[in-house]
Amino acid sequence: MIEPSPRAALDAVPSYVPGRPPGTAGNGPAYKMSSNENPFPPLPSVLATATEAVGTMNRYPDMFSVELTERIAAARQVPVEDVVVGTGSSGVLSQTLNAMCDPGDEVVYAWRSFEAYPIMVALTGARSVQVPLTPDGRHDLRAMADAVTDQTEVILVCSPNNPTGPAVRALELEEFLGWVPPDVLVVIDEAYTEFGTDPAAAEALAAYRRHQNVMVLRTFSKAYGLAGLRVGYAVAHPHIAMALRKAAVPFGVSHVAQRAALASLDAYPELLTRVDAVVAERERLLCALRQDGWAIPDTQANFVWLPLAEQTNSFAEEATRAGISVRPFPDEGVRVTVDCPEANDIFLDVARRFRRGGATS
Ligand SMILES: *Cc1c(COP(=O)(O)O)cnc(C)c1O
Repeated sequence: MIEPSPRAALDAVPSYVPGRPPGTAGNGPAYKMSSNENPFPPLPSVLATATEAVGTMNRYPDMFSVELTERIAAARQVPVEDVVVGTGSSGVLSQTLNAMCDPGDEVVYAWRSFEAYPIMVALTGARSVQVPLTPDGRHDLRAMADAVTDQTEVILVCSPNNPTGPAVRALELEEFLGWVPPDVLVVIDEAYTEFGTDPAAAEALAAYRRHQNVMVLRTFSKAYGLAGLRVGYAVAHPHIAMALRKAAVPFGVSHVAQRAALASLDAYPELLTRVDAVVAERERLLCALRQDGWAIPDTQANFVWLPLAEQTNSFAEEATRAGISVRPFPDEGVRVTVDCPEANDIFLDVARRFRRGGATS
């Protein structure tokens, strides 16, 4: 049969079969600890602003999110020209790769890392060059620099790394940037940076200030709790920022998202107490799990990584039975989002029983 044929590049992209997400039908797990979301409901002030903004849904939003862009530039102390707001930082990353990559180009990143990376790279026709993490779940920056060839257009650095947790350190990042050719764009994805407590961790904005080939991705989805509204941004040097704007879907960031992000910046001190609560729970989990003998890598994010290898799926099933959903990566491990204390206690309990063998007997 003769029919329209999609690009061969799509063969490498996993097929999505439409269906209800888990938990929307019947009685699924009570706690969703699988998507690294903020467990707190929206702040009343943010909810009120967003609700009011819905009232103009017959109008297109401000295409370039001018007010939000200015507010972010002021908050981060960077030029307005360098800020590009988009539909979540994954949206901005997709713009970045579309703006930078031709078929045959290479994009280097650590693996395992954010699942969206291989999909977005494949869609541009570029080739993914995946550099294995170190045994403790960290980026192997020496090996990543060594993987650069004449075809390399972009390097993605995920710090803290999703799903393992460690952040890249300032000194190692600076050394790495000295190895990378100046015509290779280094994208530092800081989706979880607000949860970081390690003073030695790299600050991507400091690296962007020192290096013309560095850009930073930030999101309102995690610490700011706006995952459902799709808003994030890049801080990039002007000619890259301009290219990102050209690669945007017009009017992608809704008026509701823009107003809610502005309200969230206003409410940041209040949001920070929630971030602190998540961090305190993370430390409690880490401490308890390590005491029980689990080898958990350092985490500077709102999740912990259990390197369960071939026991991954049985752990995930056990968690579901106990009323929590976690994120399994078959044969590698399970990523568990820090939630409220009650949910975290259920998780600890599952982990304890599993270690004692109670789960598999
Ligand atoms: C969650 C996440 C993002 C943010 O995605 P949004 O599109 O902003 O919701 C980006 N990078 C990583 C590594 C993430 O885990």
